[in-house]
Amino acid sequence: MRVFLTGGAGYIGSHTLLEVLSQDHQVCVYDDFSNSEPEALKRVAKLTNRSFDTVEGDVLDRAKIQQSLIDFKPDVVVHFAGKKAVGESTEKPLMYYRNNVDGTLALLEGMEAAGCKRIVFSSSATVYGEPHYLPYDEHHPLAPTNPYGMTKYMVELILKDWCASNVKNTAVLLRYFNPVGAHESGEIGEDPNDIPNNLMPFVSQVAVGRREKLSVFGGDYETHDGTGVRDYIHVVDLAKAHAAAIQFADGHSGCEAINVGSGQGSSVLDLVEAFKSASGRDIPYEVVARRAGDIAEFYADPTKADKILGWKTERNLSDMCKSAWNWQSRNPKGYNSIK
Ligand code: NAD
Ligand code: UDP
Repeated sequence: MRVFLTGGAGYIGSHTLLEVLSQDHQVCVYDDFSNSEPEALKRVAKLTNRSFDTVEGDVLDRAKIQQSLIDFKPDVVVHFAGKKAVGESTEKPLMYYRNNVDGTLALLEGMEAAGCKRIVFSSSATVYGEPHYLPYDEHHPLAPTNPYGMTKYMVELILKDWCASNVKNTAVLLRYFNPVGAHESGEIGEDPNDIPNNLMPFVSQVAVGRREKLSVFGGDYETHDGTGVRDYIHVVDLAKAHAAAIQFADGHSGCEAINVGSGQGSSVLDLVEAFKSASGRDIPYEVVARRAGDIAEFYADPTKADKILGWKTERNLSDMCKSAWNWQSRNPKGYNSIK
């Protein structure tokens, strides 16, 4: 198939690119490199020994995205491009709505002009908001609690209407839980620009000596050890879920929301312990106040992904930590390590 990846140079996009190339699809990556490095694409090309098209462009550039889609003629688009920092979205909500919501409209308009009827969208478990029950299944009410989550929710609604407008249109809404880890080669991985907001990259940077200690946000939650619980998913398992969603979209029409998680909850301290064993390094930490807006505990019911996509996770927390450490120790400053 011909697969068009927006945001294909980013963390999840580059791992999916590698997976999709290894399945012999023809690929075009469309990315403005606002939160990624072209080096990631070079490394994927080397690892797979495969070539692919690359367009440096902003999804908000309507003329460019439309022409790129008309030129490439994709069978399916996988839409990763977007902004993802929850805290920043509360400070700059308009930037988030513009980039994530208007960016998706520009993409869909371009797809219509190019006659492409299939999309796989990077949604998030954050669309569920405060849990009414756990594990979250896909019928759980949707009530995001921040502008970032609202952009994902709005795009889901837009894609539902788009599918309803034409029986041939297909959208797979992948609701990711907490993606972590890196490809086993240690050549590609998560490379945050600034101080990491997320737990795994912060822990990795403590292990490698870039940060002194981890602040554990809250030790008094009603969880097995008092710290926050999340459903961590290995980024390579997540990439394989995209490959399965691309196949699914080929034979189906309509809009399907699908949880992409392991179904297992792990606490902050569970992850710290697993990382210590994986790296052989100490991870000094201090328990501090809760982070505003954090939910105590959430994890997925991943049954639908297994039923519909024939996909489930194969890698555990230890694999996630080992691969994150392999990437971090080989690239202590991320892709900038080579400069
Ligand atoms: P990332 O920032 O590493 O990748 C996003 C890519 O999109 C980057 O390469 C960036 O340069 C590009 N991009 C951003 N805005 C663009 C624009 N306007 N035009 C063209 N390119 C643009 O993020 P990621 O972690 O790989 O996440 C990918 C998607 O998955 C995002 O939509 C994110 O919201 C979603 N998601 C991520 C997580 C997570 O924890 N990483 C969880 C749930 C959902
Ligand atoms: N967390 C933490 N210290 C950090 C970053 C995160 O204790 O420096 C905790 C956070 O409170 C949550 C868990 O780790 O319980 C996962 O946080 P992350 O930001 O990675 O994911 P999210 O909260 O967005 O699901």
